[in-house]
Amino acid sequence: MARYGMVLDYKNCINCKACETACKEENGILLGADNHRIWVGTKEIEGEFPFLNIASNNFLPSQCQQCANAPCQEVCPTNATYYDENSVVRVDPDKCILCSYCMTACPYDARYVDDRTKTVDKCNFCADTRIARGETTTACQNTCPTKVRIFGDLDDPNSEISEVLRTRDHFTLKSHLGTDPRLFYLT
Ligand code: SF4
Ligand code: SF4
Repeated sequence: MARYGMVLDYKNCINCKACETACKEENGILLGADNHRIWVGTKEIEGEFPFLNIASNNFLPSQCQQCANAPCQEVCPTNATYYDENSVVRVDPDKCILCSYCMTACPYDARYVDDRTKTVDKCNFCADTRIARGETTTACQNTCPTKVRIFGDLDDPNSEISEVLRTRDHFTLKSHLGTDPRLFYLT
């Protein structure tokens, strides 16, 4: 049992999209589809015109934020969305009736419809692929050439992710919503 999370040193992202490709290959996601499981967006430039801070423009890798208080899980009428034994928010495709309540409830727009199965899908930290095989990294972390991502057990004080969160300033997305994400972005 673990409580998995991820740190993203997003300022190191060069938008090479190696993470997206690795995720698709590992998890059998449709090739060519955008914004499936993970994606790279952009962080808004700070300041107001004409005093824009161009240097503040960054790529912002994103995915399901693995909320500890997940709105998607609360609204799911069939319990297709659930927390697994490692606190990962997952979707059971056999229970999903494609009501799309979860897609509406997610404030991070992290869910999409898999056109092949006609069920909702999203990032699950490679729970049924790499983690199920006993590996300790996600596909996106494993492939990133600039080491943007650190995945690990937040409950293990000796894990790299715990060490980084102890020593580096960080923030979560839309923290005012009370979703308590387990993705942390380094400042
Ligand atoms: S980011 Fe969206 S899909 Fe992921 S746990 Fe939070 S509400 Fe659910
Ligand atoms: S679309 Fe599927 S996972 Fe989402 S709320 Fe409906 S039944 Fe649950």
